Amino acid sequence: MRNLIALFACSCVVLSASANDPAPAAAARLAASVSKPASASLPSKEQMAKDAAKEPVPGKKEAPAKKAAPADEDKEQEAEVALSAKIAERLAELRERQQARASAAARARKAADAKRLQEEKAAAAAAILAAAPKHGTVWSYEGETGPANWSKINVDWAKCGTGNRQSPIDLRDGIKVNLEQIGFDYHPSSFNEVNNGHTIQVTVGGGNFITVGNQTYELQQFHFHRPSEERINGKGTEMVMHLVHKSYDGKIAIVAVLLERGQPHSLMQTVWDNLPLEKNEVVSPSIVIDPKDALPEKREYFTYMGSMTEPPCTEGVLWLVFKQPRQASPAQMALFSRLYPLNARPVQSTAGRMIKESN
Ligand SMILES: [Zn+2]
Repeated sequence: MRNLIALFACSCVVLSASANDPAPAAAARLAASVSKPASASLPSKEQMAKDAAKEPVPGKKEAPAKKAAPADEDKEQEAEVALSAKIAERLAELRERQQARASAAARARKAADAKRLQEEKAAAAAAILAAAPKHGTVWSYEGETGPANWSKINVDWAKCGTGNRQSPIDLRDGIKVNLEQIGFDYHPSSFNEVNNGHTIQVTVGGGNFITVGNQTYELQQFHFHRPSEERINGKGTEMVMHLVHKSYDGKIAIVAVLLERGQPHSLMQTVWDNLPLEKNEVVSPSIVIDPKDALPEKREYFTYMGSMTEPPCTEGVLWLVFKQPRQASPAQMALFSRLYPLNARPVQSTAGRMIKESN
């Protein structure tokens, strides 16, 4: 019996030596708890001597006289068996716990190693990116390549982030003055169109001019945004059309025509009827369009100095925004929204710029 207890205590010590845990205490407690009742029930030395004398000889029938203490002996054996079982059970429990702790620790170490490796890789990649000059060309209206990050994609697009004369803006608190009418000299023209991945863009043949003050600009192309990029007193419309013009010395003037739901828009329909099947495929229909069909009846407008509303966000652009919207049918609007549900830059800070409007 004592041998069993000693064996158990030793096993506990061995088991817990590497685990660095409270097992020794548990082992000591258990050893104490099992040794007390055991020693209390253990026979004295004299009794053990007597018992030894009474040991039955194998193959020999026990004498009736020697059967004096079979009950005690059985009890002792039973207790011993029970104690062995208890010890074995406890040892198994301790081993199991130790294994669980060891594998948990191994898992934690593995996870920490993997995390450290990942962090090192990310830091190395970030360092390479930070060191290299950025000349990205991919931009969009949402997510990683969206308007908030345009300036970080390409070093030449810095103005998108740092410029203080950016477009679009919310047109409000304009100075009401007697603005000179914009002179339109538009004619039926040949055209080609492309779905360039950002909008549907129509390039118009030469010979279409506007005059603002004493400056003349030639129409280059027009395109669409959904929703409208510009707002008037905080309110936008479902779409907008931008007609982009250039002067002989490279100055840009953009006429904006807001679009709201209503009657069909004949010019828009011609453009939609000739949509290319593939992105970046340029189609040149054999018909003509008249850019005059893009203009509203009333010609009052807002004007301010701003920028291109897409990278590289070049400033020095003269904006001319008509107050009266043109209409387009819900079906025409729906067609564009299937291609471009959102292709509008958010409004930018006015930053104290002067806005003039026709009174
Ligand atoms: Zn535009």
